Amino acid sequence: MIKPDAVAAGHIGAILAKINEAGFRIVAMKYTHLSQASAGKFYEVHKERPFYGELVDFMSSGPIVAAILEKDNAVADFRTLIGATNPAEAAEGTIRKMYAKSIGENAVHGSDSDENAEIEGNFFFNGLERF
Ligand code: ATP
Ligand code: MG
Repeated sequence: MIKPDAVAAGHIGAILAKINEAGFRIVAMKYTHLSQASAGKFYEVHKERPFYGELVDFMSSGPIVAAILEKDNAVADFRTLIGATNPAEAAEGTIRKMYAKSIGENAVHGSDSDENAEIEGNFFFNGLERF
């Protein structure tokens, strides 16, 4: 996902270019705006964390780009491409180093396992929206 901060700052094109350059294939893509309820459901695993309310407010604050990306070793390679959760700790040249504002407003989301990538892909896309 390209998060609301990066969309609002006009970074959709630059982030998609980096994703393409890194060798990911786009299987599905959508420009949409999560409701509070949808954002809460998407990040349900973090329900008990102290930042959950803030995270749900932020993720429903503006439009996002959701995508399913395909590549060998996609989960690990995408997390390398985006960098650490906190942009202050993200490596030089990573998407979060370049475009994230803070640990909360950190430009992009990446799935943390193949299993969660499948769940999250199904959250946004049906079978007719994948190519
Ligand atoms: P994501 O799941 O969005 O790809 P991540 O896997 O790097 O990020 P998680 O630990 O899963 O990090 O946290 C999910 C999201 O919650 C973070 O991307 C960030 O937007 C927010 N978040 C995490 N830690 C904090 C924090 N300490 N304060 C505020 N927001 C936070
Ligand atoms: Mg995560």
